[in-house]
Parts: sequence; structure tokens; C-alpha cells
Amino acid sequence: MKPSILLIYTGGTIGMVEDTRSKSLKPFDFNQITDRIPELKSFNVQLSSISFDEPIDSSNMSPDVWIQLAKLIEKNYSKYDGFVILHGSDTMAFTASALSFMLENLSKPVVLTGSQLPMGIIRTDGKENLITAIEIASKQENGKALVPEVCIYFEYQLYRGNRTHKFNSEHFQAFQSANYPVLAEAGVHIKFNKNAIQKTTNKKLKVHTKLDAGIAVLKLFPGINENAINAVLKTKKLKAVILETFGSGNAPTDKWFINLLKKTIARGIIVYNITQCNSGAVEQGKYETSIQLKKIGVIGGADITYEAAVTKLMFLLAQNSSARKMQTSLSRSLRGELS
Ligand code: ASP
Repeated sequence: MKPSILLIYTGGTIGMVEDTRSKSLKPFDFNQITDRIPELKSFNVQLSSISFDEPIDSSNMSPDVWIQLAKLIEKNYSKYDGFVILHGSDTMAFTASALSFMLENLSKPVVLTGSQLPMGIIRTDGKENLITAIEIASKQENGKALVPEVCIYFEYQLYRGNRTHKFNSEHFQAFQSANYPVLAEAGVHIKFNKNAIQKTTNKKLKVHTKLDAGIAVLKLFPGINENAINAVLKTKKLKAVILETFGSGNAPTDKWFINLLKKTIARGIIVYNITQCNSGAVEQGKYETSIQLKKIGVIGGADITYEAAVTKLMFLLAQNSSARKMQTSLSRSLRGELS
């Protein structure tokens, strides 16, 4: 039996064409992609596809679309061995992170891919990305999926989705996973890093279809003033704020700053400390400049990415858990998103 894969086309450069008037790239229809890869027809997989009625540039991605995607996977989960989502690279790391939280007990691959050049361009990177993503999604060992998690395949590397970050808008290698090893590398053979891949589960898939976007982000810089900080902290209906700090989670020690955060936490708002560095982790208490943060109840996000922090908060806030449960869930790994 050939493995069966469902290809979901959301949009992104891979299927874009140049608008004749504005000369800018805009999403086009799905046939544009499959027609350009006749090899797909002779592939050793049973391939079905679904396309968004109106494919989007992923800069227009939203939590509602993540919910739509999660529901689509839930509806088709028993019918397919794996899923490949074609997606714009701009917000692919957010979508992969969001799906990782929403799809609890996943035992089948969900591989996101896309490209930096549209399929219609001769030098496109889309063809290899798509073909290998399908191959990875269909890989099995002893009747079980080899990569039972949400991942991103781009330019010969397979990454854990919630560990990725788009770091280059021009190179074919657009993603990095600075704090976690790659799950596989494609060369002549696809070499899987089995130790790094999530272990499969026999538990039933549980799909969470609620997200709460009541969050804001406060990125620190030397000289940031009280007005700027207040503007963020006084956001209406704010439930959590991501504090992007320096180095290993450090921030100014000014009294007014610490007091502002303290008052925010007293209002029941979560303050989640993540680092501005691409690599490495928050360690509150390592330096004097983070001791106060820890004391007043700022939660450290260890080596979580910005993308995973945003979507994890949206996911957890929607569960309406107690402050204590929130605190433990934010500081430990739910889907392999932090060490
Ligand atoms: N703007 C595009 C998008 O994210 C870029 C890409 O696909 O790589 O949809």
C-alpha cells in the first residue's frame, strides 16, 4: 500500500505570480504548483490536495486560519498517513508553532514547506522543498510515522516547527533552529536524527481549537522610557506580555521599571521573559539585572523562540487555567519547544 498524503495549499511565494500592473508577487491558484511538478504524478505516494479558496501571503496569517488548519487536519486525520502544508515562509514558524500546541498527541507528520522563489521561476527552490517534504511525511518505520510531529522542511533541512525562526529573507536557507538540532538532513539520502525526533504516542489525537490573542510584546532597548512601556502595558484586554530582554534574560534595574512590571503582575497579567538573542536561554537570577524580575514573578521562558512564545501564550490563555498552572506550563516543555 502506498502511503497517503494530504497536501494543503494555503498560499505563499511557492504559488505566486507577478502582478502585471504592480509588478509585485501575489498568491495564485494551486494548479500553478502541481502542473509545474509532473514528477508528483509518478511519486510512490497517494497524493490528495486541498487548496484555500483564496490563497494568502502568509503575512496575512491569523489565529483563525490556524484554527481552520487544525480542524482540517482533525477531519482528515484517520484518512492520511501524513500532511504537507504549503505556506509562505514569512510566518511559517508561527503557524508551525501554533499547530504544535493545538495538535496534542500527534502521531503523524505535519510538514510545512514553501519557497523563496515561485514555482514558475526556473531556479525555484520550491520543487525540491515540496518533493522532499512529501517524502518525509510519508516515511514510516515498523508501521509508524518516522517524524510524528509538526516540522518545517526548507532547503535540505528538517526542523522541529516550534524551534524555528525565519532569519533570512533572501537565502534559500531561510530558517534556523538555533537551540535544537535538525531532525533530518536531505542529501543523496535523507538522514534522520532519530534521537532528536519526538517519540511516537499511542494516545488519541486531541485537537485544541481555541486561541486567545490577548497578548502584547515589549522589546527592551537601552533608553526605553516609561511612556513607551506604559503604552504596551495599558493595552486593553491584555492578559499576557512577552518581555524581550537582553542576553540571558536581563533588564534595567531602575525602580520605576521594576515597579511598573510589579503592578502589571498584580493586575493578573502574565509577564513572560524571553531573550532577544537568537541562541541561548533566559536564566533569571544569573545576573543581578534579572534577580528582581524573578522576585516579582516574571516567568522565564528558557530558550523558547519568539514564535513559540507568542503561540504558546495564545494556546494557554484560551484554556483559562489557574495562574499556577499557567506558570508551570510556561516554564516547561509541552511539545518540545524549550529545553
Ligand atoms: N511573503 C511570502 C509569504 O510569506 C514570502 C514567502 O512565501 O516566502 O507568503
